[in-house]
Amino acid sequence: MKLHTKIFIGLFFGAALGLLANFFISDKSTIEWIVNNISYPIGQIFLRLIFMVVIPLIFVAIVLGISDFRDIKKIGRIGIKALLFTFFITLLSVLIGIEMVNIFQPGLNIAETERAAVIQSLSGNQSVTGIITTAKESKSFVQILVDLIPRNPFAEIVFAFDPNYRGGGLLALMFFACIFGVAMALVDSKKVQALTSTFQGIYDVLMKIIDFAMKIAPIGVAALIFSSTSQLGFQVIALLLQYVLVVLGALIIHIVLTYGFIIKYFIKKNPLHFFKLISEVIITAFSTSSSNATLPTSIRVSIEELKIDKDVSNFVLTVGSTANQNGTALYEGITVLFLAQFYGIDLTISQQLVVVLLSILAGIGTAGVPGGSLPLVVIVLQTVGIPIEGIGIILGVDRILDMSRTVVNVTGDIILAAWIDESEKKNSLGLANLN
Ligand code: ASP
Repeated sequence: MKLHTKIFIGLFFGAALGLLANFFISDKSTIEWIVNNISYPIGQIFLRLIFMVVIPLIFVAIVLGISDFRDIKKIGRIGIKALLFTFFITLLSVLIGIEMVNIFQPGLNIAETERAAVIQSLSGNQSVTGIITTAKESKSFVQILVDLIPRNPFAEIVFAFDPNYRGGGLLALMFFACIFGVAMALVDSKKVQALTSTFQGIYDVLMKIIDFAMKIAPIGVAALIFSSTSQLGFQVIALLLQYVLVVLGALIIHIVLTYGFIIKYFIKKNPLHFFKLISEVIITAFSTSSSNATLPTSIRVSIEELKIDKDVSNFVLTVGSTANQNGTALYEGITVLFLAQFYGIDLTISQQLVVVLLSILAGIGTAGVPGGSLPLVVIVLQTVGIPIEGIGIILGVDRILDMSRTVVNVTGDIILAAWIDESEKKNSLGLANLN
């Protein structure tokens, strides 16, 4: 049986068992015990087996991807294409989200009594306070740019997954890797031959470790999904049903229309076949809620199934796993406007434009980890003058939305890599014809 079939079965069983437990075990503390002592630790073991290779993989994959090109113009061209693609596709995704929220107005259709009860329940909520504290310590835009250049790359490595870290984190590590790769490409190839084969060796070993981890993926995925579904608060979902449906609907529209169009007309493949080939990536993203944890699987599937050039996959997918998150941007735009409606705040057109712009930036700056975007939602809320405690309103349904937007984020990275690969091949064909 193929791995993705096994993972899918794990996903199905985990979800079904979780829902059954949610319905039939009325004592919530029993469910909590099962989650805390069985499903959560199993899920975490699986996630950590993947996460432990993510940092070294990010460094080695970018360095190898860039240095292998050995053509500085090509590196620049790919970088600019990736940047432009990310900007336009993210803009499109945010506009789809904002259009949807303006049409369906999910924040207005909540009864006054329920609205008051929800607002009251927010005070003293520990998770809300945690997210707000992280967001409040946020930096100015200029400081974010300066922090992209690490003073000490090892500090970025150590604190890459620490939400309270004030430096550049993963993006700064990627910056260092890019500079390292460019420099390696410019040094006489004989001098860096040993370094290249060492990095290649490390890369292969890391991929082998991921193979080990993916062997337990069906169980890990079942455990992760059980933890979410068994604790799903259906009352919260019912209250926020319209909001949840608007986010899911917008994500689906973005996948079908935007992604479908790019796959058909730019990558020149059948969209359905394309999605089938990357189904393992989609399931992994859905169950881990993390673009970074899905990175090793995306790289392998892109090279093996989609036959995307190895260097393009290594470079584009790795940077994309943190910087190209249009599912997250779409969700941020909807969430901020939803909360504005919830609090009865009318945003002017220029305030809505600020939301669009900040959502795009948030899509680039969000860490590819579960719930990575929540502190950024708080920042956008603060900027446009919406009560920041509002983040607590949507926390109860965030997991399901996180799983879904991560699928869109990761699929977007693969589409970006496939499109760049296609256009680079055309480019080299054109050059060959000229010669
Ligand atoms: N979980 C998302 C990802 O890893 C980030 C987020 O939107 O919270 O892509």
